[in-house]
Amino acid sequence: MRYVSTRGEAPELGFEEVLLTGLAEDGGLYVPKTLPRFSREDLEAMAGLSYPALAHRILLPFVEEAFDSAELQTLIHDTYAPFRHRAVAPLVQLDHDQWVLELFHGPTLAFKDFALQLLGRLLDAVLKRRGEKVVIMGATSGDTGSAAIAGCQRCENIDIFILHPHERVSEVQRRQMTTLSGPTIHNLAIEGNFDDCQSMVKASFRSQDFLPEGRRLVAVNSINWARIMAQIVYYFYAGLALGAPHRAAAYSVPTGNFGDIFAGYLAARMGLPVAQLMIATNRNDVLHRLLSTGTYARQGLEKTLSPSMDITVSSNFERLLFDLYQRDPTAVAALMAAFEDGDISLSEQALSQARELFASCRVDDEGTAAAIADVWQQSEYLLDPHSAIGVVAAQQGARSLSVPWVTLATAHPAKFPEAIRRAEVTTEPSLPQHLADLFTRPEHFDVLPKDLGEVQKFMASHLGA
Ligand SMILES: *Cc1c(COP(=O)(O)O)cnc(C)c1O
Repeated sequence: MRYVSTRGEAPELGFEEVLLTGLAEDGGLYVPKTLPRFSREDLEAMAGLSYPALAHRILLPFVEEAFDSAELQTLIHDTYAPFRHRAVAPLVQLDHDQWVLELFHGPTLAFKDFALQLLGRLLDAVLKRRGEKVVIMGATSGDTGSAAIAGCQRCENIDIFILHPHERVSEVQRRQMTTLSGPTIHNLAIEGNFDDCQSMVKASFRSQDFLPEGRRLVAVNSINWARIMAQIVYYFYAGLALGAPHRAAAYSVPTGNFGDIFAGYLAARMGLPVAQLMIATNRNDVLHRLLSTGTYARQGLEKTLSPSMDITVSSNFERLLFDLYQRDPTAVAALMAAFEDGDISLSEQALSQARELFASCRVDDEGTAAAIADVWQQSEYLLDPHSAIGVVAAQQGARSLSVPWVTLATAHPAKFPEAIRRAEVTTEPSLPQHLADLFTRPEHFDVLPKDLGEVQKFMASHLGA
């Protein structure tokens, strides 16, 4: 499998290099040059496979040049064996046509574990083979940081630096990062906001001279192709359980950076019958406005009860744009350049093509809390605020499309106690056993000023030998 940049001016790469790269040199994102395609018969043969076995079937074509079948099988087994549900991604039924796909049984209780647990193992294998060391640098206001640390904490060849805004992330989320410790793990609490953290990371990726010879930065946000790839699997897993290839399902996806739902789009293009993909957003509704009006326009950031979806632009949307513009990298580069300076409008054709598969729905904090309360009252099932937005969107979608609806439950409710309190349900979500003592574990982090030079100096002096 070869990978190309959405902007066409960066070299074509194989899987191993894509894994070790963040943005393409030309500022674009890597996508597969061609997608594997599964026939009806292939899908019939996949029905009933366990999650790891299915993952192996679906992911092998993407990584074949870098990993042989047996090696991939071992990595996938090691990745999903520690998940705390035997099914890995169990489906729970809420109503005759409403299902929830629980993606929060990994070590940090959010769907990001599906990709980052695998990413850490893929990286470790590649680095051992090459005798190289890399540095992971990322900014987080929430779930990415802990999932990235948990995914890479045992990799000797990776030093990991996660920046978070000091005193501006929730206590559960902070503790999930800072209670993981080890010689290669560095939590940096920056005296600034999330954007300050993010721009220091971006600047460091642009100019990596502060690192010693031979080290490079690797991205763990969803611009890294391997993250998207891993997420394709659970769409197939749910679809097959609900009757694919003989019956299509629709998926409602709590969306921020468009990584998770883009994986659903790829699943559809690979042959899974998908009736609709619902972009479920909070008040940060850049994609909902785009689908409604055709204009892609930034707006100020709103703080909501679903913080992991608080974004102003969705970086992975560029990957869809590439397809909407017939994979013409010049058109994408021109659009993205124009977007640097202001709003852009999609062509009629691109917009109508997007609307064939995608729909969108926006839910505010009040609607989020109400949905948590409703579902609790009707089914004694507790949703986290992100998943609650997904369920509202799926219920809306079901009014026009009569198929099984699957909402991706992206996080465990105990990660977001504030939203649960707002919903005034008669229960308190409790952390699963393995995190029950989270609030008494010692924390490890360094507070640093909002100063790029200081942060880079810290990093350079804390690298493993
Ligand atoms: C990251 C995250 C999302 C958004 O996923 P994207 O791939 O960025 O669209 C939604 N819910 C939760 C709980 C998350 O952690």
